[in-house]
Formats: sequence, C-alpha cells, structure tokens
Amino acid sequence: MTNTLNGNSLINGEWVPGSEGEIKALNPATEEHLEPVFSLIGADQLDAAAQAAHEAFPGYSATDPTERADFLDLIVANLEDRREAIVDRAKQETGLTEARLNGELSRTSNQLRLFATVVRSGSFHRVRIDPALPEREPAPRADIRQRMVPLGPVAVFGASNFPLAFSTAGGDTASALAAGCPVLFKAHNAHPGTAELVAQAIHEAITELGLPAGTFSLVYGPGAKIGQRLVADPRITAVGFTGSRSGGLAIARTAFERARPIPVYAEMSSINPVVVLPGALESASDLAEGFVGSVTGSSGQLCTVPGLIFVPEGPEGDKFVSRTVELVDAAVGQTMLTPSIAKSWAEGVEHMSAQSGVQIVARGQDGQGSNAPGPVLFETNAETLLVNAELQKEIFGAASLIVRYREPAQLQEAVAKVEGQLTVTVHATEADHDDVAALVPRLENLAGRILYGGWPTGVEVGHAMVHGGPFPATSDSRTTSVGTLAIERFLRPVAYQDFPQDLLPAPATDANPWDVSQSIDGK
Ligand code: NAP
Repeated sequence: MTNTLNGNSLINGEWVPGSEGEIKALNPATEEHLEPVFSLIGADQLDAAAQAAHEAFPGYSATDPTERADFLDLIVANLEDRREAIVDRAKQETGLTEARLNGELSRTSNQLRLFATVVRSGSFHRVRIDPALPEREPAPRADIRQRMVPLGPVAVFGASNFPLAFSTAGGDTASALAAGCPVLFKAHNAHPGTAELVAQAIHEAITELGLPAGTFSLVYGPGAKIGQRLVADPRITAVGFTGSRSGGLAIARTAFERARPIPVYAEMSSINPVVVLPGALESASDLAEGFVGSVTGSSGQLCTVPGLIFVPEGPEGDKFVSRTVELVDAAVGQTMLTPSIAKSWAEGVEHMSAQSGVQIVARGQDGQGSNAPGPVLFETNAETLLVNAELQKEIFGAASLIVRYREPAQLQEAVAKVEGQLTVTVHATEADHDDVAALVPRLENLAGRILYGGWPTGVEVGHAMVHGGPFPATSDSRTTSVGTLAIERFLRPVAYQDFPQDLLPAPATDANPWDVSQSIDGK
C-alpha cells in the first residue's frame, strides 16, 4: 500500500507530472502551505486521460456484476487501509474536524458498498421484455427487450465542502463506476492531497483486478481551463458536479454548446427553507437549539444548511427568536474550508445586511485561527421577502435569515415565491395539519426532499433518498446525487428487437444467468 503523496495526476494508470504550473494545498486554520507541490496538467495530458477513459469504456462496461461489485468493495478495503492518512491530510487541507472526516469517510465507504449491492442485484438493468405475439391481429408483435446501458466516460468535479463523500470516490464517482462508466475526476484544488490518497486506493483496486487502466483518472488543473476543456471533450458523455451556481452554470453551458451536447448533473445552491407553524412553537422545547445546531455545524458549509426559516409573528414566535439569538450570540465560529470561501461568506453577509428591511439580530464570536467567522442571524418579514429576490441568495456558511409571517395565507404566498431547493422542512403539530396539507403541493414543487420535523443537514444514503431538486438547487431536477437512484443518471435505455438469444446481453436473455429481475409484458 502506498500512502505518500507524489503530487502528480493519474492518467492511464500512471502517475504523471503536469506541465502547466503547480499549486500547494493551504491549511485554512493556519494559512500555511502544505507539502508537496501538485503539478497541473496541460491540454495534451488531458487529451491522454480522455483517450484512456474512452479506451477503457468497452472493457469496463462489459464487466459482469461480480467483477464490478468486487471492484467497488476493493476500493472500500483500500480506503479503509488508508483511513488514518486520509483523515489526517483532509483535516489539514479543510479545517474540518477529525470526527466529521471519519464520519464522512465511513459514509463514502458505505456508499460504495451500497452500489456494490446494487450491481450484484442487477436491478439497475431494468430489463423489460415484451415477448413476440406472432398471431396478433391485425399485425404480429416483434420480441422487444429493453435494458439500461452505460453512457460512457463521465467527468466528475469534486466539492470543496465534502472532500470525501462528494469528491474523488464520492457519490458521483461511485454511481458512475457502478453504472459501468469510466470516471475522469477533476480534483478540487483546495484538497489535492486528500484527492491523491483516495485515487491511490482506486488505482490499486484497478491494478489488482486487471481492469482497464483508464477506468479511473485523476487530474489537477484550474476549472476555468482544464475543467472547461474536460467538459468540452467529445469523449466525455456526462458530467457530475457539486459546487457554486456560477461554476455549475458555466459547465452546463459548455456541455450544451458542444457539437454533441451531454447531460450535466450539477448540484449548486440551496437555502433549504424551514417552515415553522404555530403548533410547533407551543409543543417543541428544543426547536431553537436544533435550528442553531443545524446552521452552525461544519461552519454551515453544507448544501442542506437551513438558510431561511419562516416563523409566525406573535409572542411564541418572539420567544423562539429570542432563544435563537441567545444561542447564535454564544456560538463560536469554526474554520471555513478556504480563505476564498470565508471571504465570499463575509461578502454575502455584508450584501444581506445592506438589504432594506433586513437586520442582523445575532452574531457569534470569531473562532481561533484564521477564517473562522462567528455565525450570523438576520431577521426580516414576509412582505420584504416577497419583493426582494436578493434575500434568497445563498450565503455559503453559518448564516440564516428569520422571516416572520402574519398568517397561513401569507406563508403560502411567500413559500410560492421561493426558488428551487434541495430540501424544505416543516415543523408542525396535528393542530396545524390543515395548513400543512394546503402547503404540500407547493413544497413538492419547491424541493427534492420534504421533511416533517427534524433538520435537513445529514443526508441518509439509501434507496429512497432524493438529494436533488428544481433549479438552482440542481441543473436537472429529475434525479438525485445521493442514494442508489443516482446510478440512473449515467444509464440510457436500449431496446433489442427480434434479437437471437445468443446475441442478446446476458440480463435480457431467457436464461437470465445473472438472475436479474425482468418485467415480462409489464409484470
Ligand atoms: P466552485 O468554485 O464552483 O468549484 C467547484 C469545482 O468546479 C472546482 O473544481 C472548480 O475548479 C470547478 N470550476 C469552478 N468554476 C468552473 C468553471 N467555470 N468551469 C469549469 N470548472 C469550474 O465551488 P467551491 O470552490 O466548492 O466553492 C465556491 C463557492 O461555491 C462557495 O463559496 C459557495 O458559495 C458555493 N458552494 C456551494 C455548495 C453547495 O452545496 N450549495 C457547495 C460548495 C460550494 P477550480 O477551483 O480550479 O476553479
């Protein structure tokens, strides 16, 4: 097992030094640079990586369920062997705590294991068979069989805020590999060492199992140059991205303007509204604690952090706001991921404070070290939200806006004005259910996940999870980037008409050697 860093890109199974400059990771808590130097690739090297992925596709996509699932399981074993080194490096590069990073690595492993079970079960082939009806009048029916096939090489962009679970071997990579697609991963420049350690685990699994070398590549380079070139490369067939709205949109535009456009699954910005109904204020004693914990955990740098909360006017609402103010005033900032993310957070706070009708009502203490600003709480009312779209801008980090509303009708109106979200959370009791029932159709239009009680931070990885939602939460609301449904982003259906059994793909044959579930005549 290797776990020393070489600072190179992984292209076609080789660690290759880049030819276009270099970067060093930065510890955001101390603002010290970390060794080693990571070299950035040029256009020729990207071309070689794309070619390797293209050449790997036929062999890798033809792997049977056991080979592919074993590959995913072996990546997990290799990651777990490196756990200490990965967590230690990620801690230095991101300022996130050891506990959070250990949890994130476990989640990454569990995600890969879950996709291994999906691959073994074969459910993703979604085989449908309409048997021939030669006697049918007025015209006979041909034998038609459908199954899902992988798209081809997928470009994945890692997220700054999840250096493991949404990065090198994270959800996009796991679902693309499970689908049978090679992955070309553009590392986030904020955690290059973590990316390399994880890539070593994947590379070792590829080598040990004798899979095509281009099944996975890791490249370092600037997004605006190498990232754009990657998306434009004709051998790339889809993109998975997590990051800013501007980055996601720039990638989507390039993908759409190609001679052959491709799908982009970009998870971008979400403020995850929470809707508090009067009954919840009377019955729940720890609502303010739960809310502030969800806003401030991981410095608020989670895509599901609640950046907006609707609270009724009146004495119970006032009590909730006072308690929330107390808690935020007492909170201490934690190191943010990078100096530039801390700077955009501060700019976002300034921009929000400058909006008419918005006040800062609480501000926590700055934390130790650099880039650890105290969390901030704003307050406004529903009338102001209704007329100013700026209030819906994501402030990535620990900040949230309390919106006071007068009555259910005003809440309905305000909720209808909110743009697309990953999540929306309702706090209510049975006494509020008529109002909640009236809200539900709006909430379905608004978000990919609707919670009744609880807090949106913390996303379960399972079969039923949706981590997606209408724009600008994502670029494609029809799917999810977390959970097993994510595999479908990298598959497309093919129908085989009147094919002889010996030419059909294994899962679509009558013999069904992989024992996958087959729907026959719709049953
Ligand atoms: P980002 O700037 O969008 O970067 C994400 C990745 O995309 C990086 O690898 C970046 O490469 C690349 N990229 C950026 N712009 C690109 C472009 N025009 N073309 C091709 N590739 C491009 O996101 P970030 O660095 O993670 O964070 C910056 C801001 O994004 C945060 O302050 C926050 O506002 C937002 N954010 C939101 C979420 C969320 O979950 N909602 C998560 C993370 C970040 P380079 O770094 O090399 O440019």
